[in-house]
Amino acid sequence: MKPAPFRYADPGSLDEALDVLVAEGEGAKVLAGGQSLIPLLSMRLAAPATLVDINRVPGLDAVEATGDGVRVGALVRHRALLHDGAAARVQPLLARATANVAHPAIRNRGTTVGSIAHADPSGEMTSVLALTDGAVTVATPSGRSVVGWRDLFVGPLETSLHGPAVVVDAFFPALAPRSGTAFAEVSRRKGDYAVCGAGVVVTLDADRRVERVRASYISVGLVPEVHDLTEAVHGAPADSADWAAAGELARTLVDPDGDLHASADYRRLLVGVLTERTLAEAATEALERTAA
Ligand SMILES: Cc1cc2nc3c(=O)[nH]c(=O)nc-3n(C[C@H](O)[C@H](O)[C@H](O)COP(=O)(O)OP(=O)(O)OC[C@H]3O[C@@H](n4cnc5c(N)ncnc54)[C@H](O)[C@@H]3O)c2cc1C
Repeated sequence: MKPAPFRYADPGSLDEALDVLVAEGEGAKVLAGGQSLIPLLSMRLAAPATLVDINRVPGLDAVEATGDGVRVGALVRHRALLHDGAAARVQPLLARATANVAHPAIRNRGTTVGSIAHADPSGEMTSVLALTDGAVTVATPSGRSVVGWRDLFVGPLETSLHGPAVVVDAFFPALAPRSGTAFAEVSRRKGDYAVCGAGVVVTLDADRRVERVRASYISVGLVPEVHDLTEAVHGAPADSADWAAAGELARTLVDPDGDLHASADYRRLLVGVLTERTLAEAATEALERTAA
């Protein structure tokens, strides 16, 4: 199918983009990489009156990695983030998760911020924003504000942003000292949306024992959630902790739905398996980083 007719604007500045969004009202939508929005239009699952293409807006295409974290501009493509060494050093989950986003052609065009604004519970980067306790910066005609992930995600494909608003960047805090991360997912074919995925962070104490364990899953809930699994392994030596027990705990905490791709029971099973596997990997990395 072809999209329903729409008006198109490609403003050359953020102010101009906001002006168009105000003028066009509720019927207008921001267009970034188009890798989610254009298929929705083509299938006539969305029919915005106007697309406001932000690709000509300057200053939105930078990745800034500092000791505090990584700031990813609204026009940074998945591919650019995947290959950004400085960002990967500050927050390794970014490259690990981005490697699982779609196929190369989609990563070349799709943006990480667009993925977050799209709020798909099957998306890797919504989950990573949650797991890192991140936030987005939102520009509106009345100024800029920072919206934390808990306040951002309202439901599947739904955020708390309404009216004329452009997400200008997403901020992912740095990985804490003595911590390691891992990310893994199961999909029918490489690059497909995951049937289930897991991202984890393990933090050790100065004696190399487990201090804190957190996990976030994709394609499991309606919005991203972070689960604290510490109680299953707290105080255990990092090289011999019972990660299976943490996997068991995770299975009791999630409430997945079944659909065409997988039953709820299968998803719950995958949560346990992926949790155990990724935690062992993250603990190894945490040990290396503690020794370094
Ligand atoms: C075949 C296929 C497979 C895919 N597989 C995966 C996958 O495995 N994992 C995954 O996470 N994604 C996947 N995607 C989606 C892809 O990652 C998209 O790039 C991403 O979800 C959206 O980014 P975009 O820049 O293309 O956004 P667009 O498609 O341009 O926009 C998506 C939505 O976000 C809004 N939006 C975008 N940017 C902004 C902004 N700066 N401010 C306010 N609103 C904004 C738009 O208005 C729209 O509602 C897949 C897509 C396809 C076509």
